[in-house]
Order: sequence, then structure tokens, then C-alpha cells
Amino acid sequence: MSNAEETIGTRPNEMCSKCKGACCKALPGSVFFDDIKEPIVDTITEMLRGGYYSIDAWDGDVFSGTKYSCYYLRPATVGSKDVFDLSWGGRCIFLSKEGCTLSWEERPRGCRLLVPKTLPGGKCGLPENLGGTSCKNAAAKNWYDHSEMLQEIGNIIVQERKEVKA
Ligand code: SF4
Ligand code: SF4
Repeated sequence: MSNAEETIGTRPNEMCSKCKGACCKALPGSVFFDDIKEPIVDTITEMLRGGYYSIDAWDGDVFSGTKYSCYYLRPATVGSKDVFDLSWGGRCIFLSKEGCTLSWEERPRGCRLLVPKTLPGGKCGLPENLGGTSCKNAAAKNWYDHSEMLQEIGNIIVQERKEVKA
């Protein structure tokens, strides 16, 4: 990669260049449903089969409805290639010493939209107009109508892995 400032999730800027991806080391950015290419089910299936993505969840209903968990997709974390990984964070599997190994276009929307140091207290976060209280919350809202589908695909991959081990 030619420009060191482009090696993390955000647009090139001095702050991120100095920081070198504290966000990527804490929790991978969220994939948004709107980014999944057709055919949707096949694309998600292949992402999960490859082991580089996991299903995470917003614990509770992001719209105060009846769902208990709202599932969404994100890159896996180092040390965990679980299909369902509802852990509290970890280093993104795509982060190398040189920065993100994905091209800008391949990066999850949650990475591309992250704005450095713009939230109260100087925290980094997504633009307010995305309607989420955090990257995770915004992604869970974006996946809301597809949460069950994601869960079903995840269950199939879990079963596939069990059969391979058997
Ligand atoms: S995909 Fe790239 S930019 Fe996004 S969290 Fe992972 S390493 Fe960072
Ligand atoms: S968005 Fe924030 S945490 Fe991420 S690299 Fe930039 S300054 Fe660091």
C-alpha cells in the first residue's frame, strides 16, 4: 500500500495516521446489510465459510420490539473464527502490522464511515445521521429485517463445521 494514511479504516487523516488503528484493535468495523452483494444468501454463506467473518449481535432489541438479539456481520477477531462470536471485542483479523489488508472498497461500511474524534469526549464514531448510538447499534439496525436470515445461515455453517469434524 502506497499511502500509510490509508492503511486503516478511516479516510486519510493525521489523527488516524498517528493512532494506527486503535479501533481495529478493539473491535472490527461492522458490515452493513446494504453492502452485501447479490445473491445475498450465497454471499453471506461464502463469507462465513471462509472463516474471516463472524456473526455478532446487539444484545436486546435495537428498536424496542420483540427480538432478543439483533444479529449482524463483522470481520472475525484474531483467535476466534467462531461463526457466532458475541464477545466484547478483539483485534480485527484483517489488521496487519502495515495496516488493513483489505482495499478501501472491500472494507466494512462501519470502517469506512468511522469519523475520528468527533463524538463528545473526543471519541471516534459513526456520523449521527446513521441513526445508531454506536457502530454495533447502527449495524444491528441496518440488519434488523434480515437478522433471522443471518442466524439461519450461521446455523447451517455451524452444522457444516460439525460434520467436517465428525
Ligand atoms: S476491516 Fe480493516 S479497517 Fe476495518 S476493522 Fe478490520 S483492519 Fe480495521
Ligand atoms: S478512527 Fe479513531 S481509533 Fe480509529 S484509527 Fe482513527 S483516531 Fe484511531
